[in-house]
Amino acid sequence: MTHVPAAGSEPPARPLPRPTPTSAPYWEGLAGGQLLLQHCRTCAAWIHYPRVRCPACFGTDLAWEAVEAAGVLYTFTVAVRPTAPMFAGSVPQVIGVVELPVGVRITTTIETDAPDLLRVGTAVRGVFDTSEGVALLRFAPDR
Ligand SMILES: [Zn+2]
Repeated sequence: MTHVPAAGSEPPARPLPRPTPTSAPYWEGLAGGQLLLQHCRTCAAWIHYPRVRCPACFGTDLAWEAVEAAGVLYTFTVAVRPTAPMFAGSVPQVIGVVELPVGVRITTTIETDAPDLLRVGTAVRGVFDTSEGVALLRFAPDR
């Protein structure tokens, strides 16, 4: 993916995550190169995005556990027009939902120079992108 600002102008700043007390462990995990997910100690559900209660049993006994940042494309789209002004230099932008083996689905961007080769079910691996000063989890085809 190339990031080329429009001639003569810089795109507006991209929105970046603002960790909350609930989500901070997720972001800290990414900064350390790990994908941490919440795991309910009551009903064993895996949870993403971070929450204070388990969406399956409403329990609050949640633990953070490291999982492999790898899965398959559950769905995706290729945006050939910027989805917002701050992404003007990032088209085409592949926006996808990745399903992990634990069943969690993560909305993300897919880094690839060949979006035409992507298919639902394509194996993807996490990319811990720190290019914007904060660790973001993107995925790329697992070749
Ligand atoms: Zn639960």
